[in-house]
Amino acid sequence: MTDTAGGPSLPQERRLVTEIPGPRSLELAARKNAAVSRAVGTTLPAYAVAAGGGVLVDVDGNSLIDLGSGIAVATVGNSAPKVVERVQEQVAAFTHTCFMINPYEGYVEVAEALNRLTPGDHEKRSALFNSGAEAVENAVKIARSHTGKQAVVAFDHAYHGRTNLTMALTAKSMPYKSGFGPFAGEVYRAPMSYPFRDGGLDGPTAAKRAIEVIEKQVGAANLAAVVIEPIQGEGGFVVPAPGFLPALVEWCRANDVVFIADEVQSGFARTGDLFACEHEGVVPDLIVTAKGIAGGLPLSAVTGRAEIMDAPHGGGLGGTYGGNPLACAAALGVLETIESEGLVDRARSIGKTMLDRLGAVQANDPRLGDLRGRGAMIAVELVKPGTTEPDAALTAQVAAAAHRQGLIVLTCGTFGNVLRFLPPLSIPDHLLTEALDLLERIFEETK
Ligand SMILES: *Cc1c(COP(=O)(O)O)cnc(C)c1O
Repeated sequence: MTDTAGGPSLPQERRLVTEIPGPRSLELAARKNAAVSRAVGTTLPAYAVAAGGGVLVDVDGNSLIDLGSGIAVATVGNSAPKVVERVQEQVAAFTHTCFMINPYEGYVEVAEALNRLTPGDHEKRSALFNSGAEAVENAVKIARSHTGKQAVVAFDHAYHGRTNLTMALTAKSMPYKSGFGPFAGEVYRAPMSYPFRDGGLDGPTAAKRAIEVIEKQVGAANLAAVVIEPIQGEGGFVVPAPGFLPALVEWCRANDVVFIADEVQSGFARTGDLFACEHEGVVPDLIVTAKGIAGGLPLSAVTGRAEIMDAPHGGGLGGTYGGNPLACAAALGVLETIESEGLVDRARSIGKTMLDRLGAVQANDPRLGDLRGRGAMIAVELVKPGTTEPDAALTAQVAAAAHRQGLIVLTCGTFGNVLRFLPPLSIPDHLLTEALDLLERIFEETK
């Protein structure tokens, strides 16, 4: 058992025994190509057999350092003990009843926890779903039901998912939208605060610019909701200038517009706060969570003001699997782990280490145009030296070199020129240091 068991007891080391991907992974990749739609891509085709702490072990026996957490999902680490224990207990008890048929305590317990832990001390309610996109769609449904209005505003560089409505909310065409229209109607786009690319516009001014677009092109009288990621994920880890989010919230409050924070990527300790909104004391009307919520089991949620959440008619929200008992058990294990392991603080200390080390690289390398993010959600935006011209080729080259050396890194950004780092908060210091050493060397070698 021990050689296939994952979790934090796996040897915490980078170990390369073949090229990456190795021969067994290549065999599986050939089978994948024959069996799986080519539209489903893979970033690093080293096929996993175990993962935990800060490593992922592949079928060839290589142990890779994980700076991706499966896109900010395995925040507490893969197969975290409290998650495993609770899920094992639940899977042996019952796997599904459908909460809408025969409910169970786990769902209620997760809702209570979300109501308690999300920003704001007003009365709240939650509803559980499966994916981030599904939860975003439901947040829009709830906002429309509550306001009796239809329009929704999203922002430049936004990512909210791949379903029809969330494709419409998402900004980037390739690969998310191209050829998949027509898209849902009544979705409008406003300019984001993006300090590196808007000349360092201050937050309140950037908000004024966005609000002007909203007022002139949509009209508050038609607008049900504004949907925004407090730190953008796929769009490039764009951190809006201070004051941008608070000004938007204030305008929404004054205009009967529901402010929806999409914290699918930034939530659950990732940014060094339990939720990224907390950094500026922003209290969203609705907050959408998923990814890090359940350690990899599919679960998402909409949490918010009781009067908004209770607006839709009875039976108006739901789904066969929403709040599945295994996923709820996992979520309770995740929350317990975040608290008992002090992972909010851990995210802050990981962030400090990454910013210090990458800042030192940036000081001697003008290709690192911008270094940004908070906690364990950090990115560098790569550009042609002395300009803001994106360098997607360099970004791909650095990522490929990292992958070959057993370091899982992800890219993102509207211009494909952002390297992002999302380590599991269970990563030990020595692996984080080794990962940053490797990155430093790769930047040196690509000069
Ligand atoms: C990943 C993501 C989504 C979509 O979540 P899925 O579970 O993939 O549907 C929505 N919003 C943000 C900010 C995300 O990062």
